[in-house]
Order: sequence, then C-alpha cells, then structure tokens
Amino acid sequence: MHFDIISCQPGLLESPFEHSIMKRAIKKELVSIDVHDLRAYGKGKHRQLDDYQYGGGSGMVMMVEPLSGCIEDLKSNRTYDEIIYLTPDGRPLNQSLVNQLSLKKNLLLIAGHYKGIDERIREQYITMDISIGDYVLSGGELPAAVLVDGITRILPGVLNDATSALSDSFQDNLLSPPVYTRPAEFKGWKVPEILLSGNDRAIAKWRQEQALSRTQERRPDLLDHMDS
Ligand code: SAM
Repeated sequence: MHFDIISCQPGLLESPFEHSIMKRAIKKELVSIDVHDLRAYGKGKHRQLDDYQYGGGSGMVMMVEPLSGCIEDLKSNRTYDEIIYLTPDGRPLNQSLVNQLSLKKNLLLIAGHYKGIDERIREQYITMDISIGDYVLSGGELPAAVLVDGITRILPGVLNDATSALSDSFQDNLLSPPVYTRPAEFKGWKVPEILLSGNDRAIAKWRQEQALSRTQERRPDLLDHMDS
C-alpha cells in the first residue's frame, strides 16, 4: 500500500515512521510513504503558502495554487483511491473506517495548517475528510501519522501475530480485556487465577466477559453499534 502526504512541515512526519512497527512495515515493503514538501510549490521568491482570508478575520488560509500544483503533479503519476483532507470538521476516524481504508492501494493525504485550506481545494480534489477527534491541533501532520499508523498495523504481514490486531479494542465494538505478564505476583498484586489455569476455553470466556463489562462501564455507546 502506498501513501503520499502533502505537508508544509514535512519534518513533523520524520520520526513517526522511523520506529517500531512502521519502520518494520516499510523495510518489509508492505507499505511505502512519500512526504511531499508543499514549500516546493510555494508562490514567488518567498515560496508563499498562505494568505489572508477573504472577508477578513484572524488567521491565514493555505492558498489554492501551491496545493493544486502539488496535487496535480502527484495525480499525473498515480491514481488515488481517495484524496483525504485531515480536518476537525471531517468524518470521525474509527476502527471501521481504518479497516475500510486498509483495503485501498493508494491514498493521498493532505495536512492543513493555519485556518485550514482554501475551500476550492476541498471542492475540486478532496474525496474524503477525516477528523481524528473533537479537538483542534495546530497541523494535519499528526492526524495523518495517526491514520497511516492505524491502517499499516492491520495490513497483512505487518504484525508478527496477525490475530493480535483482531483482538484489540474496537474490532468487534468491544474494548480489549485487561492483560498481564510475568511475574504472576508482584508486591502481593496477583494475576487473575484463571489466566494461569491453562484452560483455553475458560480463559476465552473470562476475556469475553471482561471485555463486555469494561465496555459497559467505560464506553456503553459502543454496544449500541454491536450489530452494525
Ligand atoms: N480552522 C479549523 C477549524 O476550526 O476546523 C482548524 C484548523 S487547524 C488549526 C489546522 C490544521 O490542523 C487543519 O487544517 C487540519 O489539517 C489539522 N487538524 C487540526 N485538528 C484536527 C483534527 N481533530 N483532525 C484532523 N485534522 C486536524
């Protein structure tokens, strides 16, 4: 799977892909990521990317020409399944959307800054708007990294144990049950006896019950979508 990301702060996207599972996925060529510096498409001698908003008001807006130039160049080399703008007013990101996007081949992600991007870019090029939550960050790079990470970790071959991702929170609209590792006792704090029993059926049942009660307690809203 391939991601192109357009950013005016490409340095923000260096570290997230250079460690752990992301690093491994790139090395194994299960995923490739190209970050494109929008500055290269900036206007004039100062490579301008933003301008005052029409109608007045505080905050700059990312200009139409640099973004259009960059998107057109990328589109001339590749066909995208989706061109996604990361934005607080987008569709809320959840596991179901991550699962759907993991089936795609090529995604183009656009990270905004300032007040956001000129609306005409959204009208002409964007096929999907995604928000990573009801709060506002200063730029779209971290949301883009969140999306890329969420998708990459469920691609076949990325995790050593493919079943691990399936038992994570949200895959079945339940939160994950509690997990423990060695030692079985620390400062008198004990691991639940059942997990040491070796009885796989009983352990699976216990985990299911724990997942359900944890979801009821912390995220009862998820249970409303059990059949969706
Ligand atoms: N004026 C915008 C608004 O109120 O919706 C906020 C702009 S924000 C300061 C700058 C950029 O950060 C946005 O263009 C977007 O790319 C990114 N961003 C901020 N919060 C986000 C979120 N919750 N989800 C996705 N992207 C976000």
